Amino acid sequence: MFEVVIGLEVHVQLNTKTKLFCSCPTSFNHKQNTNTCPTCLALPGALPVLNKEVLHKSVMFGTAVDAAINQTSYFDRKSYFYPDSPSAYQITQLYTPVVEHGKLRIDFEDGSHKVVRINRAHIEADAGKNIHDGAISKVDLNRAGTPLLEIVSEPDLRNAEEVTLYLKKLHSIIRYLDIGDANMQEGSFRVDVNVSIRPKGDEKLYTRVEIKNINSFRFIQKAIEVEVQRQSDAWEDGVYEKEIVQETRLFDQVRQETRSMRGKEEAADYRYFPEPDLLKAVITDEMMKEFSVIPELPDEKMERFVRDYGMNEYNASVLTSAVEMAHYFESMMEEGISTKNALTWLTVELLARFKGEVNISNSPVDAKKLALLVKRIEDGTISGKAAKEVLDSLMEKGGDVDSTIESLGLKQVSDTGALEAICDTVIAANADKVAEYKNGKEQLFGFFVGQVMKASKGSANPATVNEILKVKLG
Ligand code: ADP
Ligand code: MG
Ligand code: ZN
Repeated sequence: MFEVVIGLEVHVQLNTKTKLFCSCPTSFNHKQNTNTCPTCLALPGALPVLNKEVLHKSVMFGTAVDAAINQTSYFDRKSYFYPDSPSAYQITQLYTPVVEHGKLRIDFEDGSHKVVRINRAHIEADAGKNIHDGAISKVDLNRAGTPLLEIVSEPDLRNAEEVTLYLKKLHSIIRYLDIGDANMQEGSFRVDVNVSIRPKGDEKLYTRVEIKNINSFRFIQKAIEVEVQRQSDAWEDGVYEKEIVQETRLFDQVRQETRSMRGKEEAADYRYFPEPDLLKAVITDEMMKEFSVIPELPDEKMERFVRDYGMNEYNASVLTSAVEMAHYFESMMEEGISTKNALTWLTVELLARFKGEVNISNSPVDAKKLALLVKRIEDGTISGKAAKEVLDSLMEKGGDVDSTIESLGLKQVSDTGALEAICDTVIAANADKVAEYKNGKEQLFGFFVGQVMKASKGSANPATVNEILKVKLG
């Protein structure tokens, strides 16, 4: 009877070398308050200068989501007082953002898809961090002035599944473009969820509640669930008008409820006005040409994997959802191994050997090494079973493929002379079976292969053994 309406605001920290309006580094592993200067400390008289790299990365994003780029955009000042903001205002883009009217496609498991509209993506400066330490609070301004791209969707999402698909796709695009780390836990991909309900069939939008800074997919799902419940309960109890007000709420992970944070200030309270210390941001045609060059995106890569490597869509989507995985796979394929083997050894064997979270970029076995291991199976040097042992050892101890095969003594015997001798011994020891075989009991062939493998302690190359036995048994 109710329809859920959700719109998302995602703050992505752009991975530029320096801050938005000054040349302080953006890296966070430094001692508190050392990556600061008069500009990001908002000392009187210091003036901001726009970082061109921020425009570049914003345009890349806009291009990736098929958006309109405003080649002239403006900055606005949003006043609010909070200890982690030394200027007592935030520089943002309210009226003319750099990116507008984009779209992002999400794909459902049943093969259908939906296009979610992106209202805008604008540039703004991040605040510092408050550190609460017992009775005292400290402020670290290393993050103050770091560039954010805030990506605002239209209220097109209808449930938690769509929200998750949208966020995963957005995350994937940011990583493909390499414009941000987009790490939810570390706060470089922060999601605010706007939720309302309305009677099914109704077109108008009802009062929305904004749930702030939920730092995992699981909590986002849960927050939506409990907030929708709260709103529909209020509706059914006839207290909707009174209880559901436009406000910012926090999700309490422990009590599994949303809680009012503060009444949502009217936009006027922020006293927005054009930022007087900055010029308009102009992207010349020449800059546009340069900034709008973007790498292959997840959807295109997936289609190409299906087309070029002949794999199914499921496998292609597993490989292309994270850019690191896609690059790893392609790097393996450059070594001329089969698609099937590359897929298995990457997605089944290698991934299973990760303890905890998979981070393919830190894999102890890189793509070239894994491809060489596969090659050693394909050229008959080792069996698939032996390769698993080799991979275990490479994961644990490092080392290179060939010397590990050597030191573990796993090389298959493909030397025909040695194998012929073993075959002869087996044939001589089983004269009765040989007679039966020659009289037409052809299923005995497997028995001979098995005996030879056993005699070689598993080291014989089965393909070679097959060939030799075929000749010798006639
Ligand atoms: P603010 O900065 O005040 O939060 P924005 O316009 O930047 O406002 O963001 C509003 C977000 O809320 C957008 O993602 C939009 O899609 C979403 N939204 C607007 N109205 C509704 C509604 N009735 N229900 C759910 N989401 C909404
Ligand atoms: Mg908001
Ligand atoms: Zn600075």
